[in-house]
Amino acid sequence: MKLYIVGAGPGDPELITVKGLKLIEEADAVFYADSLVNEELFKQAKPGAEMVKTSSLHLEEIVDMIAKRLREGKKVVRVHTGDPAVYGAIMEQMALLNEKGIETEIVPGVSSVFAAAAAVGVELTVPELTQTVILTRVEGRTPVPELERLRELASHHCTIALFLSASLIRKAVSEFYEAGWSGDTPVAVVYRASWPDEKIIRTTLSRLEEDMKKEGIRKQAMILAGRALDEQILEKDYRSKLYDKAFAHQYRQGARK
Ligand code: SAH
Repeated sequence: MKLYIVGAGPGDPELITVKGLKLIEEADAVFYADSLVNEELFKQAKPGAEMVKTSSLHLEEIVDMIAKRLREGKKVVRVHTGDPAVYGAIMEQMALLNEKGIETEIVPGVSSVFAAAAAVGVELTVPELTQTVILTRVEGRTPVPELERLRELASHHCTIALFLSASLIRKAVSEFYEAGWSGDTPVAVVYRASWPDEKIIRTTLSRLEEDMKKEGIRKQAMILAGRALDEQILEKDYRSKLYDKAFAHQYRQGARK
């Protein structure tokens, strides 16, 4: 018995993988989480397939329902927003399923961090500027380990992608300052990346809270912060060594000077 866990992508129904969509088309039962999964994806489901919204159910209920259908010989697909591997809460489901002798197979999806970067039109790792992206969240009701507090992580001055933090923005800003970031550090906020009502804000650390308030953004937003978000970056000529004329690598001989 096997449950397929499929990443739905960030919202746009064309941003699911071919493999994920095929599994939805073949499923007898589809379980899907929260308001961030676009129901248009299910237009292609089999007629008569059972669609179960899971936001009002608790973990054991969901797992029992999935197990029951699998035992009946049905094909069951669990759909999660973005990519299931980040903030998908899949581990706890997999552990309970495992106890019942049920395997899982995960099909990745386009995470909102990448949909947001695409919407803004940026590279998160800019040569000579930063080569690291940290995916994290600000501590709210869900605790974050001490060593992973934003003020610690931000001390690396790399690109930081904040999930689940739109309502905690004041705290985020103060932690960035504590880590030594300056008020003019560029920040981009993408509300509902890839949905028809997507909104993009390009701002700075010092104006972030005010600008988000002005736009009424308190949830479903990805916050990307760091020098890679510089609005003038295209004029600044950062070049990757990979395409540098003088840089030889496995696939290309370096040009002789
Ligand atoms: N697994 C998901 C994240 C789930 S946690 C992924 O890979 O994207 C939910 C958080 O993800 C939201 O609070 C928000 O920060 C972010 N998020 C999910 N979908 C989004 C979207 N379409 N646009 C912007 N942020 C989104």
